[in-house]
Amino acid sequence: MSSGDDYRFCPRCATPLVEREHAGRKRSLCAACGWVHWDNPLPVLAALVEYEGRILLARNAAWVEGMFALITGFMERGETPEAGVARELKEETSLDVVRADLIGVYEFTRKNELIIAYHVEATGTVQLSEELVDYRLVAPERLKPWRTGTGLAMADWMRARNLPVDFIDLPARIARPAAGGGQA
Ligand SMILES: [Zn+2]
Repeated sequence: MSSGDDYRFCPRCATPLVEREHAGRKRSLCAACGWVHWDNPLPVLAALVEYEGRILLARNAAWVEGMFALITGFMERGETPEAGVARELKEETSLDVVRADLIGVYEFTRKNELIIAYHVEATGTVQLSEELVDYRLVAPERLKPWRTGTGLAMADWMRARNLPVDFIDLPARIARPAAGGGQA
């Protein structure tokens, strides 16, 4: 998940980029052809997946032991967020979306991302993609969100159901978390 903030050459004409004040802040741009690296935040879809009455949390192969989170992924060109959530869920767990309701939109400025979080009711048989190594099914009242990223979506979802929100701290060593999340 690169936000593209490490461009050194113009992707259009290959001229080395320069740092200049442009449209209100310092930006990398190409003095030759005028290309500007706007570096806008990238939308990330997140799914709080309800499956057989419990919430499915998954562990990415690159993450530390014990770290479980929501299903997340980038949108593809031309798809709606709802279609993107359904596609990601299918790719990563083989489950099908029965319904998807927006929980909210959350900043994740640390990675220059914007999280669009859904509560998804899913059906089918869980079969993880190679990206994921393990999953847990957690009773909603036992979820423990962390204080950033998708954890905030999880906490809002819990509050809306009058569930007590008990935050936990992120594990100290994180390989490459998609966008924060929650742990069982
Ligand atoms: Zn250029």
